[in-house]
Amino acid sequence: MLAGDLYAFQDLLSEDESAVVRRVRDFLEAEVSPIANDHWQRADFPHHLVKKYADLDIADRRGSSSLLNGWLALEMARSDASMATFYGVHAGLAMGSIRMCGSPEQQARWIPPMAAFDKIGAFALTEPTGGSDVAAGLRTTARREGDEWVLDGAKRWIGNATFADLVVVWARDVADDQVKGFVVRGDVAGFTAKKIENKIALRTVQNADITLEGVRVPEADRLQNAHSFKDTAAVLRQTRSGVAWQAVGVMLAAYEIALAYSKERQQFGRPIAKFQLVQDLLVRMLGNVTAAMGLCVRLAQLQDAGRYRDEHSALAKAYCTTRMREVVGWARELLAGNGIVLDYAIGRFVADAEALYSYEGTREINTLIVGRAITGESAFV
Ligand SMILES: Cc1cc2nc3c(=O)[nH]c(=O)nc-3n(C[C@H](O)[C@H](O)[C@H](O)COP(=O)(O)OP(=O)(O)OC[C@H]3O[C@@H](n4cnc5c(N)ncnc54)[C@H](O)[C@@H]3O)c2cc1C
Repeated sequence: MLAGDLYAFQDLLSEDESAVVRRVRDFLEAEVSPIANDHWQRADFPHHLVKKYADLDIADRRGSSSLLNGWLALEMARSDASMATFYGVHAGLAMGSIRMCGSPEQQARWIPPMAAFDKIGAFALTEPTGGSDVAAGLRTTARREGDEWVLDGAKRWIGNATFADLVVVWARDVADDQVKGFVVRGDVAGFTAKKIENKIALRTVQNADITLEGVRVPEADRLQNAHSFKDTAAVLRQTRSGVAWQAVGVMLAAYEIALAYSKERQQFGRPIAKFQLVQDLLVRMLGNVTAAMGLCVRLAQLQDAGRYRDEHSALAKAYCTTRMREVVGWARELLAGNGIVLDYAIGRFVADAEALYSYEGTREINTLIVGRAITGESAFV
């Protein structure tokens, strides 16, 4: 049982699911946590681990519950939010787009090699000029020429894109003005991905600025069931819940680091855990973790019951990442000076929390999604 799981939410997983979680946790503790700070500091992706993720045999997701998928996102972020993001982009955003918007033939063609990590995926929606307003402001164009499409434009922030084999690119069809999805090979002519340097969060994730200049994509590689931005939004509805779970994972890690430190660190001749104000910080952290976990568990139940709407995932993403930001700040405060050196890992979680807070819709944008649902009034512009 995890230290921060006071209400034993993990017991809601079946025995088989719990075994998967333990296997993944063991892998993360043995292989990912020990190298996380080093790769983060060097902004270097640990390619040697990719095959080991494949060996976990979890990316296919057929038949797994939303609770299990969410819990795995939690475990990954508890170890390293960068690697959780690598996995979320590949197995959630990229594979999810193909699962939800691809024809049966396209799913059969791409899902197995992606589940085996033989082909790595990326998801290219955001643009240099289009972030929050990407639904209306998406400028990358797709022009049909016979059995091919020609893509032109630019994308920004695209995770995994420097080494991805398959990039799901969202572009506007100049004929009907609708956003459509294309699976673009990473080595195709006219496609370039330049790593974004000098990040202060998720440094291990290889985010890229992409340019598309006359990139030719066969009609067979256009996602056959993506007809408008509504279909893109449906993918994001699924993956936003994953970010809420990641936020819980980051909170759990911060809480565990702070709790352990409070018992070891001595001041005024006693462990700082003996001070009421220190206990207050720890209990506030635990309260946030518990509320966020409970919300995510219910979210997973709604997903599996088919009663899951945009506002459910938007509120969970906004709420959990906001609580996460408080938790990592309190944990950092508890470690004081040692909270700002990478050696104690909390500094990495503090920095990474900033990226989770902003990606897959900022707090403001997710708030507007919920606001529109509860009032019936769109306040986007
Ligand atoms: C580390 C990282 C990884 C990412 N990975 C990917 C990826 O793999 N693929 C991908 O497609 N994208 C990715 N993104 C992009 C991410 O989704 C965007 O950064 C995010 O949607 C916000 O867009 P923006 O940064 O352009 O901010 P902007 O949209 O420019 O927002 C700036 C500020 O204005 C606020 N704002 C904007 N509109 C409104 C409004 N109507 N009302 C109130 N406030 C508003 C925002 O909330 C924000 O505070 C990633 C981003 C990061 C940082």
